[in-house]
Amino acid sequence: MEPDQPLFARLRAQPTARRILERALESGRVHHAYLFIGPDGVGKELAAFGLAQALLCEARGGDAATQGGLFGAAPAPATPQTAACGACSACMRAAPREDGRPVHPDLVVLERGLYTPQQLGRRTPETQDLSIDQVRTLVLARAAFPPHEGRAKVFIVRRAEEMSASAANALLKTLEEPGDRTHFILLSAQPDALLPTIRSRTLLVRFGPLPDEVVFDVLSARGVTEDRARTVARLARGSASVAISLADPDTSDAREAFVSRVLEAAASRDLRRVIAIGEDAKKDKGNLAGYLGALAAGVAERARDAAARGDARAEALALRGSHALAALEHLDGNGNPQLTMEAMLLRMSM
Ligand SMILES: [Zn+2]
Repeated sequence: MEPDQPLFARLRAQPTARRILERALESGRVHHAYLFIGPDGVGKELAAFGLAQALLCEARGGDAATQGGLFGAAPAPATPQTAACGACSACMRAAPREDGRPVHPDLVVLERGLYTPQQLGRRTPETQDLSIDQVRTLVLARAAFPPHEGRAKVFIVRRAEEMSASAANALLKTLEEPGDRTHFILLSAQPDALLPTIRSRTLLVRFGPLPDEVVFDVLSARGVTEDRARTVARLARGSASVAISLADPDTSDAREAFVSRVLEAAASRDLRRVIAIGEDAKKDKGNLAGYLGALAAGVAERARDAAARGDARAEALALRGSHALAALEHLDGNGNPQLTMEAMLLRMSM
């Protein structure tokens, strides 16, 4: 990454979201509460940090609305600079570090489990949800104070649907009347799981799946071989993070084992093995989508190799790959993991 490139410049595709946010910055009318929705790994977080960087940048003209003063005495710059410079101290500090948190005091990230219980003044870790303690400690405690460095206060909420009902309710009042130069950016891949009151108080910005070519570029830039990058890009369904995880050699052993186990169970037509895999899927819901993606990728590679050899099984393998993809889609639509896996295996056995 270029050290002094603004984060916003790294956002790929997403023309609609980009236009909305650039216009807001140009006009100096950045909304006080955005809800960025779309699949994981398509740029929501990058756009959120990019927007925060633009609001905090020391070199930028600043919001026309806030620079204008009470009587609008100070005119907006003739050529409004929409982008962050990417190079000033504020821009550097607005970019998230390895631990997912920026060091800029006016940019605060909320996320389930990002802080220790001690930091939030609670006894137990946030295993279930983003707690009201986090909203109190990070948002409400600062609400009355102006930004440390004067420009803006920005709160980014990762996986906003994980807020507990009490956390969401505690945030509502602040979302409605956030105070001067305060902005919220809520991120969610499952906006249906948000309280309707949260949705209605935020301005929706949609992020779509990335084109396969963009995903391919992301993988190539990380040194993934062209062949593998092509296969994985096709299977990642427009998500850079899914693609990176599918192409990651560190997780490939466990996934390879899963692929073999599923294909063997399908070939054996042994109902007990099918049921055992279904049971395991229920226990390991969190990783299932990744495994299914690996399954689809693995089967697609086997099908291609078989076709190249003139092997008659190529077609059957390709069909299994499509069953794996269908299962993945069903799971995305909140399908029951166990039933999804069993149905997929039965189709594969036919
Ligand atoms: Zn800057």
